[in-house]
Amino acid sequence: MRIQKNKLGVFFMAFLLVAGFCFVSACKTKEAQEEDQLSGLWRAPDIAARLAKYSPTEITFDKSLLNEEDRKVLDKMVAAARFMDDIFWKQTDPTGFPLMEALQKSKQPWAPEYLHFVKINFGPFDIQDENKPFIGSAQKRPGASFYPPDLTKKEFEDYVAAHPEQKEALESPYTVIKRNGSELAAVPYNVEYGKDLEPAAAALREAGEITSNPSLKAYLLQRAKDLLSNDYYKSDCLWIDLKDNLVETVIGPFEVYDDNLLGLKASYESFVYINDRAEMEKITGYLNYLEELQQNLPVEPKYKDQKVSGLESPLNVVLEVYIAGNTKSGIQTSAFVLPNDEKVREEKGTKKVFLKNVMEAKFQKSLIPISERVLSPEDARRVSFSAYFNEVVLHEICHALGLNYIPLPDGTRISVSKALKEYNSAIEEAKADIVGLWSVPLLMERGWIPKEKEAEVYTTYLAGMFRALRFGATEAHGLGTLVQFNYLREKEAFLYDPETERYSVNQARIRQAVQDLAAAFLVIEGKGSYEEAGEFLSKYGKLDGITRKTIEKLADIPVDIEPIFRF
Ligand code: ZN
Repeated sequence: MRIQKNKLGVFFMAFLLVAGFCFVSACKTKEAQEEDQLSGLWRAPDIAARLAKYSPTEITFDKSLLNEEDRKVLDKMVAAARFMDDIFWKQTDPTGFPLMEALQKSKQPWAPEYLHFVKINFGPFDIQDENKPFIGSAQKRPGASFYPPDLTKKEFEDYVAAHPEQKEALESPYTVIKRNGSELAAVPYNVEYGKDLEPAAAALREAGEITSNPSLKAYLLQRAKDLLSNDYYKSDCLWIDLKDNLVETVIGPFEVYDDNLLGLKASYESFVYINDRAEMEKITGYLNYLEELQQNLPVEPKYKDQKVSGLESPLNVVLEVYIAGNTKSGIQTSAFVLPNDEKVREEKGTKKVFLKNVMEAKFQKSLIPISERVLSPEDARRVSFSAYFNEVVLHEICHALGLNYIPLPDGTRISVSKALKEYNSAIEEAKADIVGLWSVPLLMERGWIPKEKEAEVYTTYLAGMFRALRFGATEAHGLGTLVQFNYLREKEAFLYDPETERYSVNQARIRQAVQDLAAAFLVIEGKGSYEEAGEFLSKYGKLDGITRKTIEKLADIPVDIEPIFRF
């Protein structure tokens, strides 16, 4: 939130000076009152440990990539993005911003640490501790500031059912719900946040006027309009159509994760970034092997589609320059898929964007220390970012491989995800991991990955498993990882030395074990067998004592980065 010093402010200051002592003492009293109020709040005693989970990290990129025009456009994009912080403070919790201001003014020795953590979380609730408060005793509202504080899910749903003519506006991702007597009213975002959106749109317009890239110009000018009209369809389409531009931004209301009441309302955020053309070309190169990988999958032909249906969204690799709003709070985004609008998805598709420099920062701050603690010294030396990045890209590509639809006896077909129901996410995520890893030797044969990298690839994969397991073994990614880990340990592809309490890759066994595990997942999916999926997950999805102890040893390693931008 930016405070503009206007003339009225100057007059007010002069008035205070003339009013002299009695006013100054009145001010002091008010400040002292605020300090008392602040000091009276409950504070989590372990603030230092909470802060230590985030390692402050400068997000850098090669500035020589930019020419004079790019820099100017980026400046304007960043200027527009900053307003997304202001809106998100208002959206996520009404007490957050005043609390931050009070902490900023406070002279208490403890204030700076709590201020720092309030800024990370955009409010008094610890995102990594199920949104429980770390200062004060108020609980986070499930509906954040999107709804009246006392509104329940049932009341909202009953009201919508009784007022079908208002359903669209009430359920829109882009309206705030307010009480108007006994009625509920849907206030459009462009009205509610107009004061912040106008300068943001103006900055985008200026960026659009500066750029000489026609597709970027069209997108930025349209996005500026759409932010003010609250209808994002046209600019969402233009974002998919961007071509040959180096600098880029997404800005607006996107994800609904912060609406825990109904999951309807979108939070504002922005990413400003540079397209990494060289890396994108490399990825496109992988796609040339898609058909060959499919044909070579280690399962019978009936478990693979005749033709790979291709990737759901093209893969883009970018370097993050600046972020604001929802995405800046808590755990940092390393990839996103946009737009979310179903209509745009159907007509134009989506883009998947990898933020490569963010991935590298996370890798350095968490994966490297994890490997140093849990792998044998020889293995720890093998862990590399290029292998890690490769693994992530192959994971995305390999989601497309195998069988996507299972033919039924009556001539119809059913998707694998429908057949495997609640087991699908864990099985599909694990399949993408392991088929990605399985594809490495073949890509080496074709000269696409250097042969001497093979050991690096497997060891980096093992290190990454501990990072995933830290986030819990119950949700899909964590469970999928645990299943792979336990299977490969059983096959002695991973070895554990009880004396040193460290793990290493058995390079003599890993290749075959990976192939067998890939086949196991591909067959479960290919059969669409709900029972076999359940059996496999329960057989290999258990956290044993040794693994639990290993994960506990990682407790003091940062879970994520806190990004610092100097652009
Ligand atoms: Zn995935």
